[in-house]
Amino acid sequence: MPRLAVIGHPVAHSLSPAMQTAALREMGLAGEWTYEAIDVEPNEFRRTIGQLPQGGFAGVNVTIPHKREAFEIVDDPSDAVRAIGAANTLSFGGGRIAAENTDAPGLIASLPESPRGRRALVLGAGGAARAAAWALADAGAAVWVWNRTHKKTERLASDIGVRPVQPEGMNRALAVSRYEIVVNATSVGLEPPGRPGADLKALHVDAESFTDKHLLVDLVYGESETELVRAARSGGAQVVDGREVLVQQGAASLRIWTRQEPPIDAMRRAIHAKPTDEP
Ligand code: NAP
Repeated sequence: MPRLAVIGHPVAHSLSPAMQTAALREMGLAGEWTYEAIDVEPNEFRRTIGQLPQGGFAGVNVTIPHKREAFEIVDDPSDAVRAIGAANTLSFGGGRIAAENTDAPGLIASLPESPRGRRALVLGAGGAARAAAWALADAGAAVWVWNRTHKKTERLASDIGVRPVQPEGMNRALAVSRYEIVVNATSVGLEPPGRPGADLKALHVDAESFTDKHLLVDLVYGESETELVRAARSGGAQVVDGREVLVQQGAASLRIWTRQEPPIDAMRRAIHAKPTDEP
């Protein structure tokens, strides 16, 4: 029976086991495939991955904080993984490890329409931001990226071929009006709400400028809406929340492993029944 898993640290609160198990059940594969969560500390990641094929694993999803290291240890990274510099879907076979990044197609599949020709701002410079910036640029958007630590913004921008941006002027806020798509790929919003406005301040976004011309994708999700989502909705913007991206990236991984079409609606139902905050 082939085994699948999500590997992260921490990972106990991951929605992926419930979502992928529901999908396997709906596909009639629950008697053949299993999907579990495995907590692996960073210094154990490489050794653990090496042992998984002998343990009957056909593949794994990789999540925080291992996506960059996954890219470094695999034998056969896809072109997208090479370009993004991070992997979230590993497949074992023939003594080799192949790697894909389904965060990128997952983001694009979650958008209501193609981003081609649109101006997009990506907030963050970690693994999720790298995948988002690459995916949007690959799909034909003009992409700018902002991150709290500017050195990382510049590195991402030069690696991926997008533009770095820094807030200018007295109030030092990023002008949302310059973009049509905004993607929050930072972890701001993961914590329970603190002081009102604190998250928007941390993101340096003039969130009162969202209008019905905007699309906001917030990769962060939890039990309640993030401040950014609330601000975007109150300006009339269209919103895609992180759960939809989670479903789409998980479906893309299942397609790779099973070579079958995953049941997207069953996956949505499985995660909307369970509140938590991580892929
Ligand atoms: P990561 O590599 O740890 O990156 C975290 C990012 O957040 C960095 O850019 C960091 O900036 C920024 N950040 C953290 N605290 C901040 C603060 N107080 N103010 C401003 N910026 C802050 O994590 P990741 O893998 O990219 O994931 C980022 C988020 O996306 C996580 O919340 C994760 O759950 C979510 N995600 C969701 C999905 C999905 O399917 N929905 C998929 C992937 C990721 P510095 O560089 O300055 O530290």
